[in-house]
Amino acid sequence: METFLEIRNPATGELAGRVECATHLQIADSVARARRAQKKWRARSFDERGAIIRRFHDLILDRQVQVLDTIQQETGKTRRDALAELVTVAGTARYYLKHGARHLAVSKRRGAVPAITSAEVVYKPYGVAGLITPWNYPFLLGIADALPALLAGNAVVIKPSELTPLSAVLAESLLVESGLDPDLAIVVNGRGDAGAELIKYVDYVGFTGGIETGRKVAVAASERLIPYSLELGGKNPMIVLEGAPIEQAAIGLIAGAFSNSGQTCISIERVFVQQSIFEEFARAVTEKTAKLKIGFSPSWDLDVGSLISRAHADKTFWHIERAVTNGAKLLAGGKRRLDLGETFIQPTVLSGVNDSMAVFSEETFGPVVALYPVQTAEEAIERANDSVYGLNASVWTGEGKRAREIARRLETGSTGINSTLLIYHSFDVPMGGVKQSGIGRRHGAQGILRYTQAQSIVSSIAAGGGYDALALNITNEKTARAVIQAMKLWRRIPGL
Ligand code: NAD
Repeated sequence: METFLEIRNPATGELAGRVECATHLQIADSVARARRAQKKWRARSFDERGAIIRRFHDLILDRQVQVLDTIQQETGKTRRDALAELVTVAGTARYYLKHGARHLAVSKRRGAVPAITSAEVVYKPYGVAGLITPWNYPFLLGIADALPALLAGNAVVIKPSELTPLSAVLAESLLVESGLDPDLAIVVNGRGDAGAELIKYVDYVGFTGGIETGRKVAVAASERLIPYSLELGGKNPMIVLEGAPIEQAAIGLIAGAFSNSGQTCISIERVFVQQSIFEEFARAVTEKTAKLKIGFSPSWDLDVGSLISRAHADKTFWHIERAVTNGAKLLAGGKRRLDLGETFIQPTVLSGVNDSMAVFSEETFGPVVALYPVQTAEEAIERANDSVYGLNASVWTGEGKRAREIARRLETGSTGINSTLLIYHSFDVPMGGVKQSGIGRRHGAQGILRYTQAQSIVSSIAAGGGYDALALNITNEKTARAVIQAMKLWRRIPGL
């Protein structure tokens, strides 16, 4: 087994850092330490926990240079894409600091019988949440989901991607600097087997990554009967219909398809454009795509950075090559930028893609988007839904009511109107996938309640044996009939 992971910047090949791989024994020990620390942590108030997360929020913004440098060094992405990670982590912290206590508050509910009973729900932390994360947003996905878990009173053990562990390690140290007991947020490093090992000990698994791994995680968690969430991939559609503001929709697509070099779970890979505006839209997108600046640098003027690895660039380029060989048309891009490095691919716009091509239905997870002409809104909806995925979508019609009607018919966990990536910063609403894009949600009430068990506490007056004694009093036909009469009446009393 490897002792260290050596992390290289995929854009430059430079050594970005080294981390020690956790042995299976160390993983078990990390969870045991986290479990001990969590016993005290869960007894602290939300405000006490929040004070630490508040300091963390401020600290990551103060240390932005260090955070952005670390993200860029291990991913080869642009400065702007690195900033998007920082902004989202800060936004997640801010949201749960302001609203987490409300979501977790004891909630009063209706009792079984008015007047003599009452009910309430208490949300209790699971204990130790294991978070297994991918490489595309190593700072964001490495720590943002840990924040609501911690605020809800859990400890977390995080297994970041073996390609990008440095941002999670940095986040862990910044949490400790913010005052968190180091045993409450522990990063364990290693390849997939370390993730599999972690699942053996934790009380909840939050997984973000690909479908194949997600399936294994679900099986392993099910074996132990522990809850889990899966945030998986997408082949996200965009619908552009007559009446849509074409220039704005083209800008939305450039951001939605090419930011983070297309390596975003919610990025747009399929665009269904009404025939009558297809040419105009395609021209606007093509012109804008051709102007994008590609490369790697800590300056702010680059639009598209490196892909995560040579292997991933090969796979992405293969999607383009196969499509073009089989008759697809290149509207923009389509070349590797070997002058910049083996991991750079021009942002690419295709048309004429059909179902014999991998890029038609498989997640590319790179800077590649295909435009498809459609005759009607109905056809756009049908084709957008024709996918095993169901993560995110985008609708542009120029008219809000119509766009919302279309959005509601899309089989996705989220849909943006006049936007492609807005969902990620809409912290008050749940975000996640349907179909094979996942199970469970982050953000909003669900994003913090998922780290808790709901305990219902129901209460009866004691007088005369209270609720339990009610049935004992039914000893003859007359009282039984009175009960039935009361049931009939009850449904008709407003408010009860
Ligand atoms: P991956 O599935 O290969 O790996 C994800 C993590 O799982 C890594 O830390 C890996 O080491 C670990 N792992 C591997 N095998 C494991 C096993 N058997 N048990 C437990 N853990 C194991 O994914 P990736 O290539 O790192 O990330 C890309 C994928 O992630 C894409 O499909 C993308 O769409 C998806 N993604 C989804 C979201 C979302 O929120 N829905 C966000 C980002 C990325």
